[in-house]
Amino acid sequence: MPVDSPFQIEIPGTHILSHLFPDLQNVSDEPIWIDAEDTGNRLSLREGLRWVRRVGMGLEGLGVQKQDVVMMYSTNHIFVPVAYLGIAGCGAIFSGCNPAYGVEETTYQIQNTGCKAILVEPALLPTLLKAATSANFPKDRIFLFSDKETGTINGIRDWRTFLPPPKDAASWHWQTLGPAQSRSTIAALNYSSGTTGLPKGVMISHQNIIANVAQSIYMRDLSQPYTTSSSNPHPSPRPPERWLGFLPLYHAYGQLWSIVSAAKTQSPCYFMRSFSYPTFLSHIQNHRITHIQTAPPVLVMLAKRPETSSYDLSSLQNILCGAAPLSKDLQNEVSSKLNLKVVQTWGMTEVTCSCLHVPGGIDDRSGSVGFIDPNARIKLIDEEGAEVGIGERGEIYVQGPNVCLGYWRNEAATKDTFDEEGYLKTGDVAVRDEKGWFWIVDRKKELIKVRGFQVAPAELEALLLSHEAISDAAVCAVLREHEERPRAYMVVKEQWRGKVDDRSVEKWVSERVARHKWLTGGVVFVDEVPKSPSGKIQRKVLREWAEADEEGG
Ligand code: AMP
Repeated sequence: MPVDSPFQIEIPGTHILSHLFPDLQNVSDEPIWIDAEDTGNRLSLREGLRWVRRVGMGLEGLGVQKQDVVMMYSTNHIFVPVAYLGIAGCGAIFSGCNPAYGVEETTYQIQNTGCKAILVEPALLPTLLKAATSANFPKDRIFLFSDKETGTINGIRDWRTFLPPPKDAASWHWQTLGPAQSRSTIAALNYSSGTTGLPKGVMISHQNIIANVAQSIYMRDLSQPYTTSSSNPHPSPRPPERWLGFLPLYHAYGQLWSIVSAAKTQSPCYFMRSFSYPTFLSHIQNHRITHIQTAPPVLVMLAKRPETSSYDLSSLQNILCGAAPLSKDLQNEVSSKLNLKVVQTWGMTEVTCSCLHVPGGIDDRSGSVGFIDPNARIKLIDEEGAEVGIGERGEIYVQGPNVCLGYWRNEAATKDTFDEEGYLKTGDVAVRDEKGWFWIVDRKKELIKVRGFQVAPAELEALLLSHEAISDAAVCAVLREHEERPRAYMVVKEQWRGKVDDRSVEKWVSERVARHKWLTGGVVFVDEVPKSPSGKIQRKVLREWAEADEEGG
């Protein structure tokens, strides 16, 4: 039997802006999105709304139609929420491109989204222009996107030039969405390789975002464990919090917390443009940050790096940790060292952000990822396709209002990702106990996670096959010091044998992809890549090879 969340909450079926701004006469003037380096550079919700209206109206003026995609290629700054909400606000679709991406990766996203306009951070313009040329994307649809006015560079105008004056946009209003439209209207396209293949645009609706924010906040405010009784405790909202916005905003995790949940809970969020550990610590100290949302590598730093003890981190009460496996030992080490709660969450881009949470008020030390978010349902499925019971391992299949609509322009991948009952197949393996708590125990999909970022083996394999000396390649993860690293097994063409070495291939790859995709797990030359009779890479065999290699030293 599938396991239902014990909690049911009301999830309004409406437009994301109607949800965040239910009373337009009464919008907060308190700062909400704040530049952590320069706190005078900040926006309140009221100011944010004024900008959002200008963006919505301005995009309409550019001819952007409902459900067209607008891509953003930028690091974090306080106007990213404005772009996100303005783009979704006018019925278009926001798609964030990782600012660490190089020309080829960015070209892929421009082509795959079929975007109609691009907002680019000035420092990334040279890369973007090369990608735009490769993708045949018109230069007059590219706009410089910064929190400071930049003027025109290389013929590319500042994004402010397409915005109407504030007074003209003051009465602009977004389209009203009823429940069915809220479910079917896409607000964001976030890229994920899912269980197999290349990165794909995950279609996230207005309803998905509203639901996942409501679910996550409910779990955050909850201090009761799961009970099998049907009682439905109403968590009480917490006292005011201050958050640090360092999760990248092109990714679902950053969008959910630093943009939408910050606005919904009116929690001021201090934005970091990029992550550096000492700066991160000094911002916690100086802005008296109470809550952070993060991934395991930051916990490793908090536990192990000597700088941790040089800062006053006593304001910090709660760390939400997701995006990759977190060991119980590390979780408890950080909890004890900093005297705070580390609560785990599990999710993926395809469930908007998350779907299992340890309640924010519980001091869990078991390494669990918690229990099912309100209104969602999970079944665990074994290799034979049968449901498993308590204490048995099974792949998580999930249903709920936060589960995406499928993959953008990719019906085949969408069909493969959902079962006949409409459950999303996640590729993550879990066990649950009799009280409804879940533990992630394995990942059966190809995906590799490096510092919480996705690495799709299929993407690296396609790249390696374009190398003149390589005739076949397969990529998998090796685990070193609790960190996953991409490793390539490859076959060198006859005439190249002895003329290429592992270092030259590693270097060649690092010149073409973002850093987290580099082959830091090494390159191994083999006679043959293990394949099934139908030609599919046998990933299980690769994993066994990698484990044996690591054990062998
Ligand atoms: P993404 O779509 O980039 O958010 O990546 C989602 C994937 O990250 C999941 O399918 C898991 O494989 C992994 N992941 C996320 N949260 C956790 C967690 N708490 N423990 C283990 N793996 C996780």
